[in-house]
Amino acid sequence: MNLCDAKTVKNIMTAYGLHFRKEFGQNFLTNKMVVEDIADNCTDTADGTILEIGPGIGTLTRELCLRHKNVVALEIDKSLIPALGYTLNDFDNVTVINEDVMKADIATILAPYFEEGPVSVCANLPYYITTPILMKLLESGLPFRYITIMIQSEVADRLVAKAGSSAYGAITAVLNYYGEAERLFTVSAGHFMPPPKVNSAVVRIKLYEEKPYQPQNEKIFFRTIKAAFEQRRKTLPNALSSGFPELSKEKCTALVELAGHRPDIRGERLSAKEFLTLADLITKEIEA
Ligand code: SAM
Repeated sequence: MNLCDAKTVKNIMTAYGLHFRKEFGQNFLTNKMVVEDIADNCTDTADGTILEIGPGIGTLTRELCLRHKNVVALEIDKSLIPALGYTLNDFDNVTVINEDVMKADIATILAPYFEEGPVSVCANLPYYITTPILMKLLESGLPFRYITIMIQSEVADRLVAKAGSSAYGAITAVLNYYGEAERLFTVSAGHFMPPPKVNSAVVRIKLYEEKPYQPQNEKIFFRTIKAAFEQRRKTLPNALSSGFPELSKEKCTALVELAGHRPDIRGERLSAKEFLTLADLITKEIEA
């Protein structure tokens, strides 16, 4: 079965009474080489489990099933489930679950798989909800080996941006705390059905087995990053005093200097590690 063939896709959709649902970000991949490339590069082991978010009609799922021990696929759209029963019929290593990933208890769903071996995530994500899904996966604290996602090209640029560049944002700094992101390749809109308005890119995140640094207070660490980027045009002391009303402007300036920066620096220049140093000083001040 070739799910990258437009005619095959149309036939399956007609047979199961399906239509592309914009509200679920349904743009199905139709280039076999791209699908194989994603499945080949999403992790470095074949003896583990892949969590796929949004299998659609199973195009990427089939390639994942061919390469990995187990595949667990979470699909929000109930109407796709019977079609997936048909397209994945020849595999006994796949479990399809009709759930919204944002509501699903992924720790419970994946618990038996984590006991068996490494678990990675591989997904052509619905673009309307990329960042919330990525944040949910990272904040879950689950020991994923890799998270490989196809996302909007501009979002991919943000994830791999260097501190100080215009693409660098809060999501970059937060992501750098959990792991290292690498942009694998770009995929043009013509390789999807229907084609989206933007180009896409595949990003692979290697999660740290042990984080190289740990903030004294994780909440304050994330608050520090949020404050710095919410007021991106302001100097860092000004941005911090808006984000931490309990600290005076003078105190924020002193803490920024104590962290080794000039008081006119903007938050976008700080790496995750530098945010952590600053957040630890803020924590000390707040908790004193
Ligand atoms: N994997 C398929 C492919 O590559 O051709 C489909 C990818 S399509 C961009 C996104 C898929 O995610 C759709 O099947 C859509 O129904 C599903 N989806 C959207 N929101 C979701 C959510 N919150 N939870 C689970 N699946 C979701």
